[in-house]
Amino acid sequence: MATVTTALVHSDAWTRFDYGPHHPLRMERLGLTQRLMEAYGLTTLPGSTVRTPEPASEGALAVYHGADYLETLKAANGGRAPKLAERFGLGPGDNPVFPGLWDAARLCAGGSLLAADLILDGQADRVFHFAGGLHHAMPARASGFCYVNDAVLAILRFRERGLRVLYVDIDAHHGDGVQHAFYSDPAVLTISTHERGDYLFPGTGFVEEAGMGAGVGYSVNLPLEPFTDSSIYLPAFEQVVPPLFGAFRPDVVVAQLGIDSHRTDPLTHLALDVQGFARAVARITELSPKLMCLGGGGYDLPNVARAWTAAWAVLNVVELPAALPVSFAADARRYEFMTDTLWDPAEPLPDHQRARAQEYVQRQIEAIRRTIFPIHRI
Ligand SMILES: [Zn+2]
Repeated sequence: MATVTTALVHSDAWTRFDYGPHHPLRMERLGLTQRLMEAYGLTTLPGSTVRTPEPASEGALAVYHGADYLETLKAANGGRAPKLAERFGLGPGDNPVFPGLWDAARLCAGGSLLAADLILDGQADRVFHFAGGLHHAMPARASGFCYVNDAVLAILRFRERGLRVLYVDIDAHHGDGVQHAFYSDPAVLTISTHERGDYLFPGTGFVEEAGMGAGVGYSVNLPLEPFTDSSIYLPAFEQVVPPLFGAFRPDVVVAQLGIDSHRTDPLTHLALDVQGFARAVARITELSPKLMCLGGGGYDLPNVARAWTAAWAVLNVVELPAALPVSFAADARRYEFMTDTLWDPAEPLPDHQRARAQEYVQRQIEAIRRTIFPIHRI
């Protein structure tokens, strides 16, 4: 592309919300990421804008979510569990009722719908809404820290305009909510790479989950063994993802960029580093005619800030100095960054772990080649 226009969707209002003191999803990660982007000068780039989202209307959420479920989320906004909360997946644990829950869900959806509109209106070729990517939410159920599925809502907006959408999800968890929404729709190809479901929430995402009816072959899953690192992940990604892009030829791509795949993430067992993550984002960017990126998981705050800053630099074709900016030093201290650079030191896997991860992923790739690729004439 000769000149690429980009937009970063961010709201300072996220500081208002809190899942609770013991919940792993920390809202501070969003402000921290924004401040690292600012420190690197990535919020004032030529050809790029920073846009502030408004909360989505209830009607916009009802395009996908059930009325009873939305009523319950709304009733939870005061911070106390309403009647029937448990029926909709709300309660102590993963999906707590917290003050402003309904406002937070609408703001997240509003950000992803704004991102979609910026692309549809031709205002940006590449957009990043890193508060989005809540890929586990179901039509009438909260799941995995996700209340409203902003990724599904954005894809549906593209579908209203007749666009073919490729969704690619590199979070450590299976993108089950998005797969569910488009399981029988051959106009939306979903690809998810993630830690295998027999070891990690949500327990799904095996190669055999390939779609239904006309959608068979349009849900693609590449599960990964614990300790899969960038040196195993990137070649596997290369064997599966680009051929599907080539065969499907999307009009627009929605990418969920969870960074809980990182080796120091406290919730998962994958072993990627920030440079491997950024390399995957670069490949997605090269392959995408128009690209909407969302955030997702990421429970080690320094990883989140570094990885999403690196991703935003990739979208803008900016090469960043490795050393974290001096103006970010106070944040780096406060959030206990273990490194003063954007990238991670090399940390090769022990041989037995490498062999195991490699052997597992190879079997998955062969299954995809056997069952999915022929449907796309690959
Ligand atoms: Zn995740």
